[in-house]
Amino acid sequence: MDGNGYLAVTFDIGGTLLYSDPSPAELYATHLSRLGRPVTADEVGPVFAAAWVEMQRRSAPGRDRYGSLPGGERAWWGGFVREVLARLDHEAPWERLLDDLYAAFSDSRVWRTFPGALETVAELAARGLALAVISNWDRRLPAILRGLGLDAHFRVITVSSLVGVEKPATGIFARTLAELGVPAGRALHVGDSPLEDYAGASQAGMAAALIDREDRFAGQSYRRVRSLPALLELVG
Ligand SMILES: [Mg+2]
Repeated sequence: MDGNGYLAVTFDIGGTLLYSDPSPAELYATHLSRLGRPVTADEVGPVFAAAWVEMQRRSAPGRDRYGSLPGGERAWWGGFVREVLARLDHEAPWERLLDDLYAAFSDSRVWRTFPGALETVAELAARGLALAVISNWDRRLPAILRGLGLDAHFRVITVSSLVGVEKPATGIFARTLAELGVPAGRALHVGDSPLEDYAGASQAGMAAALIDREDRFAGQSYRRVRSLPALLELVG
């Protein structure tokens, strides 16, 4: 489809509209170092990534991971923190570390919008497109978006933890489009994950754009954009 036919644009959040500064590895290193042996962000980085993959492996594909344990998202993050501690062989008490990190990442000041995010979203809304968020995130996301002034233009904010299904499952895309009242064939999803965003949205019958700021997927068959403002041209 050419760009002129879209009625809706849906957005991933992490790595697409928002990033954290300090980075997750930096925040983990800071809080770990306060509770025991000093560690650096360089040490934590690969461990954080491996723990993320391991935790993802433990939950059923498509089912919201944060609701996959009896204790809900706090239990999930507790498992994640313990996985990080085990891999680092670090002595910090996990519940204390969990409390500290949960508070740190709840603060919307840790989250930053990528260049052009606010302007691009405002411009797409001004063009009359229906905008939505589709994010694999826990229940803290709506307050973070409010804190950043990023919520106003979104008619629907779908958070996996609140709806019980996560990307790439078709259901999370379908329910968002139903709420917007837009058929999948007239909607574009934008995200940074080839699997969760690009494949998920394509599977749901939507057009997809992969945000690829560092040209990691150059030469592959994805429709890519290198910045958020580049979407304005794509949408037309
Ligand atoms: Mg993402």
